[in-house]
Amino acid sequence: MKILNEIVVDGNKTKKRTFLGLSLASLFLIITVIIYFFIIAGKPDAGLMRNLAIFVISSAFLFSVLILCGLFCIVLAILGKWRFPGFSWFVGQTLFLYPFVLQIGRFLSITQDKIQRSFIEVNNQLLSLCPIQAEAARILVLLPHCLQYDGCTIRITHNIENCKRCGRCQIASLLEVTSKRGIPTRVVTGGTLARRAVETHRPKIVVAVACERDLSSGVIDTFPLPVFGILNERPQGPCFNTRVDLQKVENALDFFLGQGKIGEEA
Ligand code: SF4
Repeated sequence: MKILNEIVVDGNKTKKRTFLGLSLASLFLIITVIIYFFIIAGKPDAGLMRNLAIFVISSAFLFSVLILCGLFCIVLAILGKWRFPGFSWFVGQTLFLYPFVLQIGRFLSITQDKIQRSFIEVNNQLLSLCPIQAEAARILVLLPHCLQYDGCTIRITHNIENCKRCGRCQIASLLEVTSKRGIPTRVVTGGTLARRAVETHRPKIVVAVACERDLSSGVIDTFPLPVFGILNERPQGPCFNTRVDLQKVENALDFFLGQGKIGEEA
């Protein structure tokens, strides 16, 4: 059985910590604000809305505790490579923190790309711990349009099979990788087409190639559908003649087909 160590986006511990650390900071900030309002609402002179305010604040507090449990699950899973029943539900609650994480990161001058990369890496690591496997037809590969050679006039967004496989860009190689495994593949120009492809194919797992922003929003939009993210490479700048590490795509596909192993990095 093929062992794979390098399928996480750019495997190293620091990157996962970026997202997890910011999530924890966001959560403590939210809990502090909740406690502050709880103290204000609890004063006897707080007025007629006092009981309602206490109810809303208590619910928010309980929800924050659930999110904290979700974060705890993620850390335990990453450190111990261990999951338990209900794990995905708890992890799903942490996605509510994502907008706060981005804002706190901005406040701390941490680039959005770095946070999003870290988020994708956490997501990939968690997926690598899941016993998710699917037959080829239930896996969907989504590729960004910017992988296509800029000068190519062939329309591949409607049907990737239109590609003449001239080799000027990696679409030809990617087609070879996916077609020999019988895995449906779509080239999409953005979130709308990606969502439509998911609705059409109804996959069990998506393996997506894209930039940090598109991958992270894709993971959140389609949750709980698992999306394994592989970052594209941009030697000529964003959205132009981009590339991807074919080995990472092959390894991810083989893993979800049950022929490989991923996520050895913690
Ligand atoms: S490999 Fe396909 S998509 Fe890329 S330039 Fe050639 S024909 Fe166009």
